[in-house]
Amino acid sequence: MTSKQTRQATASEAALLRIFTLPEAPHSTLSQIEKNLSENLMGFLKENIVAVEKPLTEIEKDFQAHQIPASPSFVSDYAEQMMQTLIAHSVHTSAPSFIGHMTSALPYFVLPLSKMMVGLNQNLVKIETSKAFTPLERQVLGMMHHLVYGQADDFYDNWMHSANHSLGAFCSGGTVANITALWIARNRLLKADGDFRGVTASGLLSALRHYGYDDLAILVSTRGHYSLGKTADLLGIGRDNIIQIPCAKDNKVDVVKMRAAANELKARNIKVIAIVGVAGTTETGNIDPLNALADLAAELECHFHVDAAWGGASLLSNKYRHLLAGIERADSVTIDAHKQMYVPMGAGMVLFKDPQLANAIKHHAEYILRKGSKDLGSQTLEGSRPGMAMLVHACLQVIGRDGYEILINNSLEKARDFAELIKQQEDFQLVSAPELCLLTYRYVPAKVQRLLKQAVLDNDLNKVSQINGLLDGLTKFIQKRQREQGKSFVSRTRITPEDNLELTSVVFRVVLANPLTGDDILQQVLEEQREIAQQDNPFLPQLLTL
Ligand SMILES: *Cc1c(COP(=O)(O)O)cnc(C)c1O
Repeated sequence: MTSKQTRQATASEAALLRIFTLPEAPHSTLSQIEKNLSENLMGFLKENIVAVEKPLTEIEKDFQAHQIPASPSFVSDYAEQMMQTLIAHSVHTSAPSFIGHMTSALPYFVLPLSKMMVGLNQNLVKIETSKAFTPLERQVLGMMHHLVYGQADDFYDNWMHSANHSLGAFCSGGTVANITALWIARNRLLKADGDFRGVTASGLLSALRHYGYDDLAILVSTRGHYSLGKTADLLGIGRDNIIQIPCAKDNKVDVVKMRAAANELKARNIKVIAIVGVAGTTETGNIDPLNALADLAAELECHFHVDAAWGGASLLSNKYRHLLAGIERADSVTIDAHKQMYVPMGAGMVLFKDPQLANAIKHHAEYILRKGSKDLGSQTLEGSRPGMAMLVHACLQVIGRDGYEILINNSLEKARDFAELIKQQEDFQLVSAPELCLLTYRYVPAKVQRLLKQAVLDNDLNKVSQINGLLDGLTKFIQKRQREQGKSFVSRTRITPEDNLELTSVVFRVVLANPLTGDDILQQVLEEQREIAQQDNPFLPQLLTL
């Protein structure tokens, strides 16, 4: 009895161990999937993601079981099942007609390289688990640092691989990058001083008491990303102490108002930790006046951070990088490679002008991250991290500056062309023109445009908000239906011009970073929207009888 049990256990154990040793059988379902994926990624996505939208509540039914299955499955069965439930109802984010979000289309080579990265399974937290990947990550940070700050060669020779310095921190995305930057700003402001051991050791209350501040604040425009709210929460600063400064009509922060707010805070003994400039806002894609913000930060003697999570990739264009002038004066800069650099999700970076900056968050532990080691984990918020830097490295090498120049310039110019196309239509209205490759617009029949203009001239705010209310309903209807039809996708957001709250409106938002999006597709997007507007809905008839 006992011996039989042992024998059985051994047999299933052997079967189990085979998943770590045997390669996948060449004709299995998973190998077939893998082959199709690597032969034609776009074809695979197009074929296997079903076009028509299934309601989320229906999809949830496939993911209902809450118990871990007791008995193992065959890999092929699992793969088969996932093709039907998971892949079929995924979103085809790299379709040329998917122009609503910042997710990028991927070059084919990141696929096999990702597989290699996963296979190697390095952990970037420490050298012991990531030899070679650590120097590679430091090199990627060095290249991106050079892209932003353009220091001389000896700067990089000295600091790029130095144990006690770092030119940036690689992380999962813009959120962690922003948190890291402002964490550093906080720790530098409230550093150890005499008997006071610094905010890191003693906490925020003691730090405020020691330095004699009543409170702390961070200044950013109303278009700042919501990750800053999370940051303020985590750092103990409080979401209410992210002071949102209005933008001018061009969606760029009003620096005069920011200076006034800073003065007011100072009068109340509230210390500004940092000013955050946005280079490419999430909603309208505009860039704050970075040089003026750098001046203000110098006046206030505070940290200057630039959130270029989305827009930072535009620095790769020599033709358009002037749009981000002043970014090189920032103490820290956030750039997401997974937004406009054609790298898969999970690749964010924060770059530090001063290679000493990260020492403000340096953390040591005995078993790893020993003093003097080159372990990257001592200066990152995250612990265990994958070797994603390899995919950024690959894109930088394979695409190169010249390749990015073409890709970025084309995106920006495509957005300008699309804006022109929208302006030419008498029943569409461009709401925010593209500064980079993001724009917003809405569908407004010509007659309604005239009515709206007149109501604004007459200062008839009731009429304006009545029209806008109906237009909001129509825009939402069109956006939702277009998504459901599955041919193309634009996103939507709500834009409130600072000087006229009555003009607040829902708009279509388009991000044009996919190199495969052609003019024909953009034309079709407008035609489809025009056609949907005529479909049964309560808004258009009301608008036309106003
Ligand atoms: C996307 C974005 C973020 C957040 O980045 P994640 O990678 O989503 O964490 C922050 N700021 C701006 C301006 C962004 O566009």
